[in-house]
Amino acid sequence: MAAYELTQHTYDVVVVGAGGSGLRAALGCAQAGLKTACVSKVFPTRSHTVAAQGGISAALGNMGQDDWRWHMYDTVKGSDWLGDQDAIEYLTRNAPAAVYELEHWGVPFSRTDEGKIYQRAFGGMTRNMGEGPVQRTCAAADRTGHAILHTLYGQSLNHAVSFFTEYMALDLIMDEGECRGVTAWKLDDGSLHAFRGHQTILATGGYGRAYFSCTSAHTCTGDGNAMVLRAGLPLQDMEFVQFHPTGIYGAGVLITEGVRGEGGYLTNSEGERFMERYAPSAKDLASRDVVSRSMTVEINEGRGVGPGKDHIHLHLDHLDPAIIHDRLPGISESAAVFAGVDVTKQPIPVLPTVHYNMGGIPTNYHGEVLTKRGDDPDAVVPGLMAIGEAACVSVHGANRLGSNSLTDLVVFGRAAGLRAGETVEAGKPHRDLEPRHTEAHLARFDRLRHASGSTSTAQLRLQMQKTMQTSCAVYRTGELLEQGAVDIARIHGGSSDVRVTDRGLIYNTDLAETIEYDNLIAQAVVTVNSAVNRTESRGAHAREDFKDRDDVNWMKHTLAWFDEGTGQTRLDYRPVHTYTLSNDIAYIAPKARVY
Ligand SMILES: Cc1cc2nc3c(=O)[nH]c(=O)nc-3n(C[C@H](O)[C@H](O)[C@H](O)COP(=O)(O)OP(=O)(O)OC[C@H]3O[C@@H](n4cnc5c(N)ncnc54)[C@H](O)[C@@H]3O)c2cc1C
Repeated sequence: MAAYELTQHTYDVVVVGAGGSGLRAALGCAQAGLKTACVSKVFPTRSHTVAAQGGISAALGNMGQDDWRWHMYDTVKGSDWLGDQDAIEYLTRNAPAAVYELEHWGVPFSRTDEGKIYQRAFGGMTRNMGEGPVQRTCAAADRTGHAILHTLYGQSLNHAVSFFTEYMALDLIMDEGECRGVTAWKLDDGSLHAFRGHQTILATGGYGRAYFSCTSAHTCTGDGNAMVLRAGLPLQDMEFVQFHPTGIYGAGVLITEGVRGEGGYLTNSEGERFMERYAPSAKDLASRDVVSRSMTVEINEGRGVGPGKDHIHLHLDHLDPAIIHDRLPGISESAAVFAGVDVTKQPIPVLPTVHYNMGGIPTNYHGEVLTKRGDDPDAVVPGLMAIGEAACVSVHGANRLGSNSLTDLVVFGRAAGLRAGETVEAGKPHRDLEPRHTEAHLARFDRLRHASGSTSTAQLRLQMQKTMQTSCAVYRTGELLEQGAVDIARIHGGSSDVRVTDRGLIYNTDLAETIEYDNLIAQAVVTVNSAVNRTESRGAHAREDFKDRDDVNWMKHTLAWFDEGTGQTRLDYRPVHTYTLSNDIAYIAPKARVY
């Protein structure tokens, strides 16, 4: 193995990731007087949060009466009763303050005529616990994530967060079960680094790129999740992968749910507004799993549009062009570029596309990472936190409601900053690192750098993505999933034959993509195995062979550990928190699901 020297850095807190959650946490830690590093593999404002279009939910009540308890009810119901209700109360109760905080920091929200923050309707968001739709999603046109990310980056610089941009974190520095920081590779000069922190906060986003067609950026490879698996810790609820109903056919680029919030609707080859049949009350704004499944049924039953009858039409052509111009300028451009349509005149061809990972690193509502230790299902891992899409708090449970992720980023980013402020003593000295703490990190890095097998990373990645897309999709069956588990295990086994052609250390994209692929395949394996194991239908996990939700046996979180050497997944469970923080409102699973 080549000799690698690690440049040392010491901080009170090390945040990995500079998307909405990472920036909000870094800002909070700096505000608490902690010396804070933020390490990101891309420039902060290029994080995937920049692509969020539709908006951020909070019961502000600007467009009619609203209440955080109604928002809580919708989120518990949307999660198909797999969300932890203490965390959901924390989310929805703190959402309005988090949005006003963003407003005061400078996010240019769209406005009502009276000058209040404009709010649009989003799927699953209702008035008075299911009575009818409510406008709860605060929007900055259809570029909300862009506005939030730029504002948070400016504020973080203002609060003296130290940014380490284009540093790719490799692994967690673990010492007797405690996290003491991360190792990282600096992409532009090839040097290797050790960042030590009394708290390490993972904010590394989702792993949509395990699939062939997804709306997320190429950088969404779940590196933090994979680091957690390699540290011998579990991931939670990985079987729950959200498909967004409206990815542009062929390109996967997202068309926000906000389009349907503004009055857009879906049609099949007969020109029928078929959602009226599947969800008579919520119609096109039923939750994402319901709309995605309905579209899939229409296509499977021969009512898809286009020459291959393999997609669906999304109409905005009946809307006032002035409204489209004002509120949906970004998607008009995307539709023109990626589908060649003028949305004021033609429908957009769309298809359900992977959009969000409900599963991730288990945490409590302070952002502290949890594992199961002995009989304790909520044992805190010292020194480690996770937030944003990388984490599973779990507020989204089996299915996330649109516009609840941006809320999750800022509410729990803030919570992590507050908790770090309470638990970390500023300036406390660090114990020395010994070579044994980082040996395995460097060995893996070196092994992948010098990999000289016969299969390219791109070939392996494509096999993985195609397998996930066919075997672990909108509809699942035991047979498909079992075949998927066999196929994905074979692809994982084939990873030892990977070939990296560039042996350099400076801007070696071949090596960077191989590290990312290696991270993705571990998550793909646990995703399929968690899905095979869950013999019920809940939220985004819809099994044709087990069509009903089974609260008696399955109202519990899956935990999955992964053994890299053998490729084996070990599964266990954590109970769902059906208690709330204030304990005056508990939404225990009703027997029937009504949409
Ligand atoms: C197209 C699209 C539209 C969406 N629209 C909405 C919406 O309107 N409303 C809503 O609520 N949600 C929306 N979502 C979901 C939401 O935007 C995401 O879940 C959220 O932005 C994720 O934020 P994050 O902070 O967890 O991570 P990200 O924004 O994905 O950022 C991850 C960060 O981690 C860093 N990172 C990753 N790996 C490493 C590594 N190895 N080393 C160093 N750094 C690393 C990256 O550099 C990046 O800074 C949308 C998602 C997509 C894909």
